[in-house]
Amino acid sequence: MREYKEVKREITELELSAITCNSCGTRHVITDHFDQELNFFHDFSVEGGYGSTFPADMDIVSFTLCCDCINDITSKFKVSATSTNTDGLELIKIKLD
Ligand SMILES: [Zn+2]
Repeated sequence: MREYKEVKREITELELSAITCNSCGTRHVITDHFDQELNFFHDFSVEGGYGSTFPADMDIVSFTLCCDCINDITSKFKVSATSTNTDGLELIKIKLD
């Protein structure tokens, strides 16, 4: 049997304080937990598979883009991006311009 006692410890947590678009450099300082500006930034992570040229095999590249940069990038696609409704029921192919 193990017995436990209460121990008070000070815990330091990481809290998001700012977010920056890796493409254009737009930086936003977080004001509070309900900061709606966070919705204008999106995080991406890409893992290279075997034989991948970029990222290399098993490497993971992570970055953040703002909505403007996502729009700029996807508007140059030769094949339209696919958008999924948040309820997951509809798939709508859209051309983001
Ligand atoms: Zn940007």
